[in-house]
Amino acid sequence: MTALHEPDTADQTLTGNGPLADARTQLREATTLLGYDEGLHQMLATPRREVTVSIPLRRDDGTTELFVGHRVQHNFSRGPAKGGLRYSPDVDLDEVRALAMWMTWKCALLDVPYGGAKGGVRIDPRNYSAAELERVTRRYTSEISPLIGPERDIPAPDIGTDERTMAWLMDTYSVQQGHTVLGVTTGKPISLGGSRGRATATSRGVVHVAIAALLSRGIDPADATASVQGFGKVGRYAARFLAEAGTRVLVVSDQYGAVHAEGGLDIVALEAHVDATGSVVGFAGGEEVPADLVLEAEVDLLVPAAVEGVLRADNADRVKAKVIVEGANGPTTPEADRILAEAGALVVPDILANAGGVIVSYFEWVQANQAYWWSENEVEARLAERMLAAWDSVNAAATRLDVPLRTAATCLAVERVAQAHQLRGLYP
Ligand code: GLU
Repeated sequence: MTALHEPDTADQTLTGNGPLADARTQLREATTLLGYDEGLHQMLATPRREVTVSIPLRRDDGTTELFVGHRVQHNFSRGPAKGGLRYSPDVDLDEVRALAMWMTWKCALLDVPYGGAKGGVRIDPRNYSAAELERVTRRYTSEISPLIGPERDIPAPDIGTDERTMAWLMDTYSVQQGHTVLGVTTGKPISLGGSRGRATATSRGVVHVAIAALLSRGIDPADATASVQGFGKVGRYAARFLAEAGTRVLVVSDQYGAVHAEGGLDIVALEAHVDATGSVVGFAGGEEVPADLVLEAEVDLLVPAAVEGVLRADNADRVKAKVIVEGANGPTTPEADRILAEAGALVVPDILANAGGVIVSYFEWVQANQAYWWSENEVEARLAERMLAAWDSVNAAATRLDVPLRTAATCLAVERVAQAHQLRGLYP
């Protein structure tokens, strides 16, 4: 069932659309600035290993359906590969390649000792029962199990997966190994070797840098307004923590629609509504507005916390926010980056802004490997310290190189990966 594909070294073109083209454009800019030769660039642009697997599912009604899954291991120079597992009907190999590359830069930028990876299954999890999703997860895990492990590659939640998915993954891998291996995945339930603070870590990190970014623009977070695209694992808690910081969250959207309240949405009440109905739509504490408004609202801060490629050449000029903090991976295309920079907006890039998740994943892996668990305060304090240190170093590099934050962050990360690669040397 497992097919090994040759890494796609031939296609390094910068044309085309989609997350992979965007990721390659960003890398090309960094390697050009760093003065790297073409061989080093190709090494950094190309995944070390890609696996595509078939996942036959016996449905609850007895019929069989086939899904395709991928795991892309982009880089191992600084340690085991690390990255989420996504369940979405939009998953394809190029998307997983881009997300794996961004994981490499994110881990290097935050100085966690990992390379980068990403996995995905092309499935809409909303259309399947928990028992069906468990069977999909166990079969996918079984197919990729020779490639994963605490020293090889450590999956985590991403869009469409959660702590329950990680428990099934950990259990399947452990049964195959013959003993419990907590360190094979992160984002597990706390009762099963998860870390305190992991579920909210990405959003905590987003809000730490959002506050720092607003302050850097002379905006008091307690007087600021915000809009948040996405109300899933990242957007929901980002909205909550922004509201706790005194920021008025005026617009929130999910895949079904958007809600707006000029005085600021009551996020606690909105969370209760979403828990009861599954969507922000129909929330009594706000009026329904077109979903696009979330990106174009008159606010100080915009947090895109959904999917890739939402800020593009065709809408970036309508963004009013002066600070954009990327909760999602790859929400801004390179063309939109240029338009936003020309308009004077500050874009805090994904590999910095949403790195809180993988930082606490690293803490979880450390705790699991030592079988010693930290308090929530310890996790939160160390997370804040790492996020703010990375914010400072990216800002310093942006000033030194006179480039936008994304270029500075990518250069810092790429340089660390390239250094590790060169120190290790080539085998054979
Ligand atoms: N899926 C998350 C991300 O994109 C977390 C990855 C991890 O914790 O390994 O950063």
